[in-house]
Amino acid sequence: MPAITMYTKRICPYCERAKHLLSRKGQTWTEIDIEADPARRAEMIERTGQRTVPQIFVGDRHVGGSDELQALEEKGELDSLLGLARRSGGPAAERVKLVIIGSGPAGYTAAIYAARADLAPVMLAGLQFGGQLMLTTEVENYPGFPEGVSGPELMELLQKQAERFGTRVLAEDATQIDLGQRPFRIASDEHAFDADAVIVATGASAKWLGIESEKRLLNRGVSACATCDGALFRGKPMAVVGGGDTALEEALFLARYATKVSLIHRRDRLRASKIMQDRALANPKIEFVWNAEVDEVLGQDFVTGVRIRDVHSGEKREIPIEALFVAIGHEPNTKFLNGQLALDAVGYIEVDRGSARTSVAGVFACGDATDPTYRQAITAAGTGCMAAIDAERWLAEHGIE
Ligand SMILES: Cc1cc2nc3c(=O)[nH]c(=O)nc-3n(C[C@H](O)[C@H](O)[C@H](O)COP(=O)(O)OP(=O)(O)OC[C@H]3O[C@@H](n4cnc5c(N)ncnc54)[C@H](O)[C@@H]3O)c2cc1C
Repeated sequence: MPAITMYTKRICPYCERAKHLLSRKGQTWTEIDIEADPARRAEMIERTGQRTVPQIFVGDRHVGGSDELQALEEKGELDSLLGLARRSGGPAAERVKLVIIGSGPAGYTAAIYAARADLAPVMLAGLQFGGQLMLTTEVENYPGFPEGVSGPELMELLQKQAERFGTRVLAEDATQIDLGQRPFRIASDEHAFDADAVIVATGASAKWLGIESEKRLLNRGVSACATCDGALFRGKPMAVVGGGDTALEEALFLARYATKVSLIHRRDRLRASKIMQDRALANPKIEFVWNAEVDEVLGQDFVTGVRIRDVHSGEKREIPIEALFVAIGHEPNTKFLNGQLALDAVGYIEVDRGSARTSVAGVFACGDATDPTYRQAITAAGTGCMAAIDAERWLAEHGIE
């Protein structure tokens, strides 16, 4: 690994910032105090043309100051400069059979199966480990919990089960992934792995309206999943925001329980397919609120209503409801793949029908990152199981057991 040299002085917040970043990456450096020795100050100016500190060298390369070091980190170039993500057997990369990326129900289920098959999986669980269910208080439809279970409790149990069989769980994001060479290289800011097989289980994120009251009342009447939470509001008035197929599906599903469903849409026509439109328009419990945006979700501790704004006139009015379902789309967490796996137009990972195989042999995908349709914890867990079995069989076929 190249030696790091840093010109500094005694009181220098930017030097501290640079040192903090380097020590986070397990680096050491030689420090040259330019106040203590004027000759070294002259040397720094001659070598860099700069008069401010820090001035950082990695080997012979002049990086610049703290901001330039940080910029390299943000561009994902710092690790390779420091020799951390080097493919040629750099000591920082550990050789493993299987890396699982993501720690929702899909990732943990894959980990349980893979660990029991003696694949000693490493899981990059993500900085927001536990996945979407960490956002929910009550899961009533996950089999095996007749009284329901809180989302964080379920995820803790899944983690324990995965660890019990030998999964190594690291609460780190996969920031670099190279599927172009074998073994595959997967790196976080702290670790790098060379893996024979990879399972991608990075889930998806619901899109939200982005208003303060929506955040405050999340799980208190605000939800992004009618299948998950609709039954909790049986016999109450509800609203759905959106105008696509998902919004209409949610509205039709909720109409079974609700006294009335207000479908709030910011245009005067729907994006949804004709068949869904016909079904929703024919449902007497669904009322369409056209050309309207949500101005605020109302309620102190729980949702009591929604204030909407007419997009043309600006006029506001309130609708009394007890649950608001935001159905304006989901975004699969697949950008970090940088196009190395085949994705559909929205960004979901394409898998071969009835399997977890992706466009790259040895890379498998599961859960919401592959699924625009069901988006449930149990289906994510089911496909996580498929991914682990597919990975185990693929490794065995290639002589890795
Ligand atoms: C509020 C809410 C309530 C819900 N309630 C229910 C319910 O009651 N019942 C039900 O069945 N379903 C429910 N769902 C849906 C359910 O949560 C999802 O279907 C399920 O969590 C999908 O699991 P997953 O493992 O595919 O992904 P996720 O749960 O999305 O987990 C993906 C994980 O991958 C991590 N990750 C992403 N990128 C990276 C990266 N680059 N490196 C490392 N890690 C990464 C994320 O941080 C996350 O931890 C709910 C969803 C929400 C939002």
